[in-house]
Amino acid sequence: MSEPTSPGLGSLGADAVDELICSARGCRAEAAWGLLWNNPRLHAPERRKVWLACDDHRAHLEQFLGARAFLRSTVPVAELDRRPVPPPPGGVDR
Ligand SMILES: [Zn+2]
Repeated sequence: MSEPTSPGLGSLGADAVDELICSARGCRAEAAWGLLWNNPRLHAPERRKVWLACDDHRAHLEQFLGARAFLRSTVPVAELDRRPVPPPPGGVDR
């Protein structure tokens, strides 16, 4: 690939994600897709919230967001910004 790489985080303007688990209710499958959405009544225009979806739930979640005109784009999870899972409160002294 010869695409220019953007430095640092935030290339999509999307919230970083930690665990790649599907956002559908009751689903614990590994997510394959990131649905980038924005509710203009709640979020700054450049803000992108991220819902994660497995292959089974991608269409369902896209339909949900699309029906509200919130959906902006869907990207493979590999393109999402990752953040480390935060340590539990109080530290992990052993
Ligand atoms: Zn799912």
